[in-house]
Amino acid sequence: MILQNDFKRQWAEIGPDAMAAMERVGASGWYILGKEVERFETLLAEFWGAAYAVGVGNGMDAIEIALRGLGLEPGQKVLTTPFSAFATTLAIIRAEGVPVFVDVDDDGNIDLDQCREVIAQDPSLRFLVPVHLYGNTLDLDRLEALKKDFDLIIIEDCAQAIGAKFGGRHVGSVGQAAATSFYPTKNLGTLGDGGALLTDDRHLAALAKALRHYGQSSLYVHDQLGLNSRLDELHAAILADALLPRLSHWTEARRNIAQLYRTGIKNPAIRCLGPNAAADPVWHLFPILVTSGERVAVEQQLRLAEVGIGVHYPHIIPDQAALKLCRHKLPVDLSNARRLAASEITLPIHPFLSRTEVQLVIESLHISSAADAIQEPAKRPIANGQIAS
Ligand SMILES: *Cc1c(COP(=O)(O)O)cnc(C)c1O
Repeated sequence: MILQNDFKRQWAEIGPDAMAAMERVGASGWYILGKEVERFETLLAEFWGAAYAVGVGNGMDAIEIALRGLGLEPGQKVLTTPFSAFATTLAIIRAEGVPVFVDVDDDGNIDLDQCREVIAQDPSLRFLVPVHLYGNTLDLDRLEALKKDFDLIIIEDCAQAIGAKFGGRHVGSVGQAAATSFYPTKNLGTLGDGGALLTDDRHLAALAKALRHYGQSSLYVHDQLGLNSRLDELHAAILADALLPRLSHWTEARRNIAQLYRTGIKNPAIRCLGPNAAADPVWHLFPILVTSGERVAVEQQLRLAEVGIGVHYPHIIPDQAALKLCRHKLPVDLSNARRLAASEITLPIHPFLSRTEVQLVIESLHISSAADAIQEPAKRPIANGQIAS
């Protein structure tokens, strides 16, 4: 079985370093908000090129804390994408914002032109939470222009895009804050939950540190109504010693696999969702779109070959029953997001895949055309021509 994520292979690589980190934290006698979290925050901020990193309980809380820290008031609207992890929208709702959904572009990222149109028509829109989906990046130049033109407050959801760049700039550097997640499946995934908020704003970093810790500005002094959302010492130590030092190497492996897929997959019913020319993606996922009539067949071929597949995402967020329980707005139709939700399949792209396994995935996507070629010899030159092109 080729898995979407192979945590056992990851453990085989990181085990000794993770155990040493555990040993150190256990022996230190200090488990919450201490030297390990501080050290990891410094390392992460350095890696990211941000002035401050604040370790929190998970990626969703990082978004909520950023929204609250940046002054979102109850009932205020927040523009966002309908095509993401549910957590993106749930964070907005938890922060008492009202999500406003716009459609996505052909790569599944929030449609920045449509954002511009919707904001132009509704000047009360001040907040934007875009997502760098699949490890691909939004066009940071256009995002920055949007921010300047409308004086927006932007929190970039970088849960899938840690390390991704656009035009040499790190994702998360345009918004006032960025959020990321250390959920096990993420590119920098730990052995449990964790997340971080990144910012260049000293005031926001200090506020986030209070908000993650019951809104406590100093011991037993509560200036804010905060959360309990702390990254713990143990995960900070594992992240710092066993995971972060390997991230660039793992990202390279993901890029190599993406390259193999992109050159190897020649099935005309399949489109690989590609990065923008100026983007330097980190391939959190490898999404393909399959022509509607072929979807079931392609899924079946992958299952037969024991390839673990995913779907990101089968439903758009505003269609979820939970959204009936809260205010939200749909100023435009979301046909692109719906189309993607109906046709996306995610191939495995974790860094522990062997070349042979990647080849097997590619071959399993060509079974039907190979069978056609065998059954109908007359078609062969055409099929070969397609393979060679
Ligand atoms: C995983 C994810 C989140 C939530 O992160 P958690 O750590 O699970 O809370 C938010 N947004 C996106 C795009 C994600 O992929």
